[in-house]
Amino acid sequence: MEKEKTCKCGFKLGDPMIVPKTRYSKQGFVWLSLGFSAKPIEVIFQCQNCEEILLLSKDEDIIEKYRYSSDIFNSDNIK
Ligand SMILES: [Zn+2]
Repeated sequence: MEKEKTCKCGFKLGDPMIVPKTRYSKQGFVWLSLGFSAKPIEVIFQCQNCEEILLLSKDEDIIEKYRYSSDIFNSDNIK
């Protein structure tokens, strides 16, 4: 069995410290900031404590599930 991935402080997916954030393309982010709607390109599950990213998902179902209920990932942090 595959070992469940944890961040460096020991949290895993499903723990309250691991929160989903939606990430938008640059263009999508511009639309959002202008008050239009845009669709995230992916959902990031990130530890709030150490900021390690446990999972990136481009799955359409995951994106739909989180697009309206999640914080927006600050894309300036990703090169
Ligand atoms: Zn952590």
